[in-house]
Amino acid sequence: MRFGIDLGGTKAEIVALDRDGAVRLRRRVATPTGYEEIVQAIAGLVGQAEQETGERGSVGIGIPGSLSPATGLVRNANSQALNGRPLDRDVAAAIGRDVRVTNDANCLAMSEAADGAGAGYRTVFAVIVGTGCGGGIVSSGRLLDGPNGTAGEWGHTPLPWMRPAEFPGPRCWCGRHGCLETFLSGPALAADCDGPGARDAGRIPARAAAGDALAVAALARHADRLARALGLIANIIDPDVIVLGGGLSNMPHLYADLPGLMAPHVLGDVARTPIVQAKHGDSSGVFGAARLWDAG
Ligand SMILES: [Zn+2]
Repeated sequence: MRFGIDLGGTKAEIVALDRDGAVRLRRRVATPTGYEEIVQAIAGLVGQAEQETGERGSVGIGIPGSLSPATGLVRNANSQALNGRPLDRDVAAAIGRDVRVTNDANCLAMSEAADGAGAGYRTVFAVIVGTGCGGGIVSSGRLLDGPNGTAGEWGHTPLPWMRPAEFPGPRCWCGRHGCLETFLSGPALAADCDGPGARDAGRIPARAAAGDALAVAALARHADRLARALGLIANIIDPDVIVLGGGLSNMPHLYADLPGLMAPHVLGDVARTPIVQAKHGDSSGVFGAARLWDAG
């Protein structure tokens, strides 16, 4: 049995995947606010799931942040209770076995590569374009990882082939200017369309369809920027498929427009990377977490 936990700011979800990838159990609870309570809630979810399935299993956890390879402590989590805490060690102590913890974009990549939109492809680059921007790379079933724990951290690389009007780009929460997240996330699209302070991009596609010129122009800028950002990826790792997840991946025009917009930025005579929508939607986090032990 493989247990996956998607630890969000408001909800924590557990799923039990059996050997065949079938869902044997799924449950959600509210995420407590205190750190000790979060660890206990995770241990409780695992214990209860084991009792109900009658099987012990591996445990993976997806979080909106990552573990520092230097300190082993959570960093960059938008859930403040987790930052600076050894979540993997504390949960391991509470449930009596090792656990693996990674960020939600890596979980998306694992889930989609295994049996989602990236199934059957060797190298999968999966990105979340939503409230934030993240990415993960799975090759031959294995998550790419390295000495900094930053593989796939696409959202905090600068917008490539910046135009003069785009330079130096908005300031990002990570301290830099011009990160992709400041151009491509939902709040970034909303602000680009409707000015500083606008945060909700949800209605922009409908407005564009109804002929709102501001919305049409903002979506065109957004697609062009996303295409540049993905063209750069093709020039570095040339993934066999690019999977888009997160709220903005629901915009159908991206799949029609991105290949053509991306082509001029891919060096050489072809630009044929398939760009597809994530199959598991909001469930990719919890499914991917359950698969964190798959590659051994
Ligand atoms: Zn940044």
